[in-house]
Amino acid sequence: MPQIFGSAELLADVHKRDLCIGCGACVDLCPYFKNHKGKTSQLFGCTLEQGRCYAYCPKAEVDLDELARRMWRSDYDGSPLGPYRKVLACRAGKRMPRGDFQSGGTVTSLITFAFKKGLIDAAALTDREGLTPVARLATNWEQAAGCASSKFMASPTLAALNMGVREGYRRMGVVGTPCQMTAVAQMQGNPLQKEAYDVPIALKVGLFCNWSVDTRQLMGLLDQRLDGSEIRRMDIPPPPANVMTLETDKGPVTVSLSDIKPLIPRTCFVCLDMTAEFADLAAGMFEGRTGWNTLIVRSEAGEEIVEQARNEGFIETEDFPAENLRHLSKAAADKKERSLRILLRRGLVNNQGDERAAVRIPTEVVDRILGASRE
Ligand SMILES: Cc1cc2nc3c(=O)[nH]c(=O)nc-3n(C[C@H](O)[C@H](O)[C@H](O)COP(=O)(O)OP(=O)(O)OC[C@H]3O[C@@H](n4cnc5c(N)ncnc54)[C@H](O)[C@@H]3O)c2cc1C
Ligand code: SF4
Ligand code: SF4
Repeated sequence: MPQIFGSAELLADVHKRDLCIGCGACVDLCPYFKNHKGKTSQLFGCTLEQGRCYAYCPKAEVDLDELARRMWRSDYDGSPLGPYRKVLACRAGKRMPRGDFQSGGTVTSLITFAFKKGLIDAAALTDREGLTPVARLATNWEQAAGCASSKFMASPTLAALNMGVREGYRRMGVVGTPCQMTAVAQMQGNPLQKEAYDVPIALKVGLFCNWSVDTRQLMGLLDQRLDGSEIRRMDIPPPPANVMTLETDKGPVTVSLSDIKPLIPRTCFVCLDMTAEFADLAAGMFEGRTGWNTLIVRSEAGEEIVEQARNEGFIETEDFPAENLRHLSKAAADKKERSLRILLRRGLVNNQGDERAAVRIPTEVVDRILGASRE
């Protein structure tokens, strides 16, 4: 089992190292950790030597081999896309009400289907208040539909999962970025081994993610150009667009990515996972095919839900072209290698003694990831 410490070590290992992504996993577990406009802070000190805050955090003492063995019954091998059964092209099916989806609507369709079939009784999702992404615990498909579309800022989504546990939901769904799926995988292990801390997850849908944007800094950048309450939707179209677009009540606003990229939290540059390797299903854009998603099917449970949702018309799927898969795999491998080099340079991998690590990876896998980029 990975080492577990308390909130003092969480502050030292994550906040002081500028590694916090504001995922929400440590928020509202106790009265002390809160998230305000994207930033997680501890309001009062706590002297417990071990806490769920540390144990859940995706940026402290994450043991990738332990997680892979528990989730997939196989060692962590550092492969670009993680373990999967198949990759599909996917989009919302005929039985899905039209919605304000980000791309193909695959994620909202799968959550809708899971609610309608009683496979989940609540879902931790991400809504938006003005520009600020907020955690939302949806308890029906209509509320889930209201959370459709991407908010490209780091979001405290997992605070909603903590709320769901407190409120006694027994079959929860969760949608989130790869760092959030790592936190959820750690939650599922019930690291403090207390019955009251059981996190009953029925469906994890991950999102592809190369980087996110710091909410407060984005607010600062856009302050002069628009009012957050006017935003209807945001997008980062695939290259060569090189812009973030915002649809507002007063018309479209375009911001160059050269202005956006300095707002990427530093912790995204040490993130190894592009495709949510610990989720049941992972969705991203389908580059070159607007209105469709790439869908990675990883777990048996995920595969069953995809089959059923397709048979009942909630999603539509097609084969995923081999050339696109090669492209996706290369992008994920590049992110892994790039981030691992920075992690190693910052001395955050496999630390020994009193020095705690951000991440633990078998040394042969470290070599493989670095070597793969030279092939
Ligand atoms: C920060 C971020 C970075 C991304 N980067 C990439 C990328 O590099 N390449 C790529 O292919 N795809 C990326 N995506 C995923 C992409 O934007 C779509 O979410 C994905 O293609 C699913 O589309 P959809 O139409 O099925 O989503 P929809 O059906 O519209 O559903 C979107 C879901 O995303 C959830 N969500 C929205 N914002 C957030 C957030 N900030 N944090 C956690 N959950 C959220 C909502 O709860 C909702 O359930 C990123 C998403 C985010 C949030
Ligand atoms: S659990 Fe998430 S929000 Fe809390 S310290 Fe870690 S990264 Fe930050
Ligand atoms: S790049 Fe990694 S750390 Fe940053 S938001 Fe995406 S998954 Fe989280």
